[in-house]
Amino acid sequence: MTVLTNGIGEKYQLVVGLEVHAQLSTLSKVFSADSAAFGAEPNQHVSAISLGHPGTLPFLNKKAVEYAVKMGLACNCSINLNNHFARKNYFYADLPKGYQITQDHAPICLGGHVPVKLADGTTKNIAIHHIHMEEDAGKSMHDQHHADSLIDLNRAGVPLLEIVTQPEMHSAEEAGQFLTETRKILRYLDICDGNMEEGSMRCDANISIRLKGATTFGNRCEVKNLNSIRNVQRAIEHEFARQVEIVEAGGHIDQNTLNFNADTGETSVLRSKEMANDYRYFPEPDLMPLMLTEQYVNDIKKGLPVLPAQLYYKYVNELGLSAYDASVITADRDVAHYFDELVKATDHYKAAANWLMGAVKSYLNDHNQSIGNFAVTPANLAALIKLIDAGVINNSVASHKLFPAMVKEPGKKAEDLAKELNLLISADNDDVSQFIKAAIAKFPDKVKEYQKGKKGVLGLFMGEIMKTSKGKIDPQKTNQLLIKELESK
Ligand code: ADP
Ligand code: MG
Repeated sequence: MTVLTNGIGEKYQLVVGLEVHAQLSTLSKVFSADSAAFGAEPNQHVSAISLGHPGTLPFLNKKAVEYAVKMGLACNCSINLNNHFARKNYFYADLPKGYQITQDHAPICLGGHVPVKLADGTTKNIAIHHIHMEEDAGKSMHDQHHADSLIDLNRAGVPLLEIVTQPEMHSAEEAGQFLTETRKILRYLDICDGNMEEGSMRCDANISIRLKGATTFGNRCEVKNLNSIRNVQRAIEHEFARQVEIVEAGGHIDQNTLNFNADTGETSVLRSKEMANDYRYFPEPDLMPLMLTEQYVNDIKKGLPVLPAQLYYKYVNELGLSAYDASVITADRDVAHYFDELVKATDHYKAAANWLMGAVKSYLNDHNQSIGNFAVTPANLAALIKLIDAGVINNSVASHKLFPAMVKEPGKKAEDLAKELNLLISADNDDVSQFIKAAIAKFPDKVKEYQKGKKGVLGLFMGEIMKTSKGKIDPQKTNQLLIKELESK
């Protein structure tokens, strides 16, 4: 593809609308008591309801409704109090009933938007068309047996939210940021684990192009099977180039459903419009309309946890963190929760951020651990920061000796451990001057160089003093004494 580099693409505007499916982490399925847990042996969580036996009746899971309302409120949607379910009819082996229960004309959340931050420093509100509830289908496996396709119905009936955006994203970056933010919100709400590789969050991308300034949309293609945010972006970039090339050559974009091949980065036709299903939606006769009250919605609103955008705002505007620090910390709910506890115990916010993103993060990475089971409590990490601020331990000794010791013995207080390991700076000036004198005696040539104006040798003396004192000195004070000593020579 050449259009993206030769400038022809400049004439066109990319238009993207996303449909995001989020599997809700309820214990049971949306219309039955079957377990909704992931990872069981195939076909273990399948009662007569999941199997779609005639005569069985669906029964709505209250939690799934609560989760849907939470998501709607977190995405600034209005909550529809009069909900109806609908049947979406199609025939496929992993859909035993022959229809999927979903919502059509009366979905639970309407409108709304998710604000996303872009690399140019601007924020854009990505508009949501609606969010609806539905059940998942089973899973067909075509590569497990030489002749047959195998079906696992554990997933059939697991609750899903489908978040449908307006066709208002105009770059792969915007689409990627929308997915990142949406996933963060799902995780902060604790209603979906957001794992795209395992399929608990899935995304279809609708992509079209039009001449810049045009007021009508071009025909769109819908790309399926995108199992990472990166792949959504790759598919968008590929489609933009492909569609521009076709239109530039005088061709026409057919409204097709496309498959994305992650190995080649290319799309191919899965179904053409002529082959599209007619779903024959009609109201689900086995479920009563779901009527919610204002009171119910307000109670959920009151119980909402703090959301990533609010935390980001607080960190930047109240704690004075940089935009970068705030976005790294809020990217992960558990990291943000740890940080929140940490800043309750220290008001040195910048140091708290540095420790969390530096020593703690690299420890967790190296040991393949998550912050959720990190042994050092926020209060104890705050105590370490206090020791540094009080000038009783130097930063490098704290990170290379005290911090690793705290991880090994999380039951001990930072200060006790520092004393036990003899890491605290000795308050004694005589001690410091001994180390200084020894260093000066060791490098007489360097003293001469210093006196000739080569101030850079200070570092060498400091290094030596750090080594001989085992870091148990106050670097700033020592530096001053060292200069005094050298200048008096
Ligand atoms: P359907 O009901 O056929 O799935 P919708 O109108 O509900 O179609 O749109 C589904 C998704 O496609 C939405 O996310 C919407 O934003 C997106 N979409 C619709 N038209 C276009 C277009 N011309 N270009 C890009 N995306 C589009
Ligand atoms: Mg749709």
